[in-house]
Amino acid sequence: MGSASSSYRVIYLDVDGRIQKVVFSRYCSSSDIKELFCAAVGVPRNTDLSVLDSSGAMVSIDPTMPHNTERSPYRVVPVTGGPLAGKEELFQNVLTQVAEQISRVFRINEMKADVTNRLAMLEKRVELEGMKVVEIEKCRSDIKRLREEIGSQNRIFLEDHKNLSPRRDVPTYPKYYLSQDTIEALRWTTFDAWQWEPNEMLSCLEHMYHDLGLVRDFSINPITLKRWLLCVRDSYRNNPFHNFRHCFCVTQMMYSMIYLCKLQEKLTQLDVLVLMTAAVCHDLDHPGFNNTYQINARTDLAVRYNDISPLENHHCAVAFKIFSQPECNIFSSFPPDAYKQIRQGTITLILATDMARHGEILDSFKEKVDHFDFTDQEHVTCLKMMLIKCCDISNEVRPMEVAEPWVDCLLEEYFTQSDREKAEGLPVAPFMDREKVTKQTAQVGFITFILIPMFETVMKLFPQLEAAMLQPLRESRDRYEDQSDQVQKKNAEL
Ligand code: 5GP
Ligand code: MN
Repeated sequence: MGSASSSYRVIYLDVDGRIQKVVFSRYCSSSDIKELFCAAVGVPRNTDLSVLDSSGAMVSIDPTMPHNTERSPYRVVPVTGGPLAGKEELFQNVLTQVAEQISRVFRINEMKADVTNRLAMLEKRVELEGMKVVEIEKCRSDIKRLREEIGSQNRIFLEDHKNLSPRRDVPTYPKYYLSQDTIEALRWTTFDAWQWEPNEMLSCLEHMYHDLGLVRDFSINPITLKRWLLCVRDSYRNNPFHNFRHCFCVTQMMYSMIYLCKLQEKLTQLDVLVLMTAAVCHDLDHPGFNNTYQINARTDLAVRYNDISPLENHHCAVAFKIFSQPECNIFSSFPPDAYKQIRQGTITLILATDMARHGEILDSFKEKVDHFDFTDQEHVTCLKMMLIKCCDISNEVRPMEVAEPWVDCLLEEYFTQSDREKAEGLPVAPFMDREKVTKQTAQVGFITFILIPMFETVMKLFPQLEAAMLQPLRESRDRYEDQSDQVQKKNAEL
């Protein structure tokens, strides 16, 4: 992917049957984009708009809004609804209006911290207490009072707008209320990630952090959690395989394993936080070409990391670059020691996902598993490495309808790489070569030699994996073997 394609978004709008193309930079603010849409639709620039997709679902107007095509344009509807229309947005608008007015007229340096704190408190209340209209009204009157207070201060014209950053970047992805069924299904390895679009996956991830008690136990600001997840989503590329949906699947599998293995009874909450966070971040900004390609093509990543797990080092560096932005740092309230532990733990787990280290890590776990000691830090770290490895390559544990499309995605990514290697005169791995590999051969080998031995080893510690994970793996292997036999029989007949 070139940088141009990731820096710009192209959105198509349906304006009274005419298709209007809108191009904007990902660095535009939501209100800049709204203004562009107003211009495209031909309404005054501060008109409130709702954007709807072909199913009628609301799409958030922001720089990370999902792409569409000319054939699936969004409809833009000026908002005329009452106070119930888009409650979160309503609050957002009130905040933005107040903030913009403030930034135009007053110098409030000395009040800035206070204002920021109060707005943060209001945001948190809206987040925590739900979206009841009564609450919104209360927030509105609080904001009105705040505005009056500010207005009573020195009325000095604000020369330097940038002095203030009152437009608080509360994420505006539509709040999806997950149904009770979804919340329940999310805990199982059978969850079907293909049914959800990115905003819904964000809500699910957010739910997992709340549900595991991580938000409560580590005083994570719920708004920061949203902002972090949005930033994570935006930092995955649209590769066929290594994309945000893969990140979601790996994290959801981790969440299921935490329940299945009752890990919260055996590990600390810090361990659980590390497991979840490493899963979310483990393939950040994956370029779609593996370490072998990076090394053979002598890419910048290989040079930067001296050929040592270049991708995994990069995923990790991007993760901590994101945490270095205060608005995305879910660990901001951590004492330095706890932050150090989180950082070290996350790095260790992400680096463990390099499959070149598979044998080494599995052997190390095998040495410990027969006398496993949950009070021994070395044992626990090794277990966590095994857990993230299991989740990372766990597609075949899922039901066939969920697992199978992932094989097509993986092969598509493999073939793109091997075609490029051929074109560039670089070595091509047979398992990536479109002339040599099939879905069946790829999966029979991977399930037999990598997945089953690894899950069987972890099963020694958690016998409940037998039914939930080993059984589906064996069924999938048998199915692909049967298909392989049928293909061979057909070929023999020809
Ligand atoms: P990653 O960290 O890259 O997501 O996962 C590790 C690697 O394991 C993948 O790049 C891919 O090579 C391999 N892998 C994961 N799942 C499968 C699978 O279902 N089949 C095969 N053949 N390889 C897989
Ligand atoms: Mn992965």
